[in-house]
Amino acid sequence: MRRHRRAKIVATVGPACATPEMLKALFIAGVDTFRLNFSHGTHEDHARSHAALRALEQEMDRPIGILMDLQGPKIRVGTLKDGKIPLTTGQAIRFLPGGADGDVMSIPLPHPEIFAAILPGDRLLIDDGRIRVRVTGVQSDRIDALVETAGLLSNRKGVNVPGAVLDLSPLTAKDRADLAFGLDLGVDWVALSFVQKPADMLEARALVGDRAGLVAKIERPSALTHLEDIIRLSDAVMVARGDLGVEIPPEDVPGRQKEIVRACRLAVKPVIVATQMLDSMVAAPAPTRAEASDVATAIYDGADAVMLSAESASGTYPVESVEMMDRIIRATEQHKMYRSLVHAGQVEEEDTAPHAVAAAAAELAERIEAPAIVAFTSSGTTAARIARKRPAVSVLAVTPDVRVSRRLCLLWGAHSLRAEDVASYEDMVQRAVDCALAEEFARPSELIVVVAGIPFGKAGTTNNLRVVQIPSV
Ligand code: PGA
Ligand code: MN
Repeated sequence: MRRHRRAKIVATVGPACATPEMLKALFIAGVDTFRLNFSHGTHEDHARSHAALRALEQEMDRPIGILMDLQGPKIRVGTLKDGKIPLTTGQAIRFLPGGADGDVMSIPLPHPEIFAAILPGDRLLIDDGRIRVRVTGVQSDRIDALVETAGLLSNRKGVNVPGAVLDLSPLTAKDRADLAFGLDLGVDWVALSFVQKPADMLEARALVGDRAGLVAKIERPSALTHLEDIIRLSDAVMVARGDLGVEIPPEDVPGRQKEIVRACRLAVKPVIVATQMLDSMVAAPAPTRAEASDVATAIYDGADAVMLSAESASGTYPVESVEMMDRIIRATEQHKMYRSLVHAGQVEEEDTAPHAVAAAAAELAERIEAPAIVAFTSSGTTAARIARKRPAVSVLAVTPDVRVSRRLCLLWGAHSLRAEDVASYEDMVQRAVDCALAEEFARPSELIVVVAGIPFGKAGTTNNLRVVQIPSV
């Protein structure tokens, strides 16, 4: 079974798709990596989805990626006295860390770190930016503010503080418990929300180790300030446009998306463009023109993957949303302008043997019109280096490590395959031929390009390039 596109689809699991039957339908429709969102659901829910996906993997005989997304230090107002407060423009309000003081205009904000970081003149954005207030005065236990954009405030609404760098660990007590649970399940990726600085990545890495790949979600202005270092310390990146689009002006999001995608290609790290991609399909069977265009833009930018959130997790049309995303990606990749646009985002490879060999493989395969490049990869990096060139040729990534084969379900253009470690050069050539034929990536007497790091099984080496003719029958 193979996909007829290069970019990957990530879909969020939720009540709309959490049965084994629905997960299978979504996989067949095109989902490569499933996201378990720990902002919602119980551990039992996630364990059940995880088990269903691993069973599906067996049934379909294809690797499936599973990404756990930690809630992170999402800031919320507390519980309000009457459940809601109507806020009007120009109104003076105050936030108190320990709950309301009984006055109707006092709002509980149980996050002491905000009181330490905020300054007069800063804005607080509440409920995805629907309500905006400007800070007029700050004390250690009180923030005074004026309402700039009115709205009905209700319990536990999210609060964004765009300007400030908050003295917060990226991992709350809940995140730590969720993380231990997810790692024991055996997730492939851990996504870290509200990363602010490189040290946040180190803190998470100390807990995750090499048990899963670490995804940095870029959704705070301070993460943009430290973008390169954060990417360097991650295994993949998510352009988390939901919160990012609240924390920075919406008109800045498209340009930032392009910057992040390009920086990730430079660093050879997979990048996911996320949130509101087909948002209207939560309630309608077809997307808006603007949404179709948004998905296509991410593909032209060269993103590795695009993501569905509520569309698959809680919408009325989860399968249709995946099918639509699949169709938009395929149409975009087949458009005559795709190659020139995706190569416009191309970055020069480093002058090192592994990068030069990978680039040469991509060019060689295109020039001899090979139907496939077979990459033997123990850590996945050989495949990632080739994929970075966004070649017009399929990349069959063969790895002995089942965990690597699952992580490759996020990488542009990779069709991953698990196979026993190759023992010798002859074995490698034979294995490449067998894989290309079995997966129907090549036919008898065609030429394929084989890339490997020798000695076999040593991660990080990409030093061998070979053209192999598939024997004629
Ligand atoms: P979330 O992250 O859905 O966990 O908030 C994605 C985003 O903010 O875009
Ligand atoms: Mn977010």
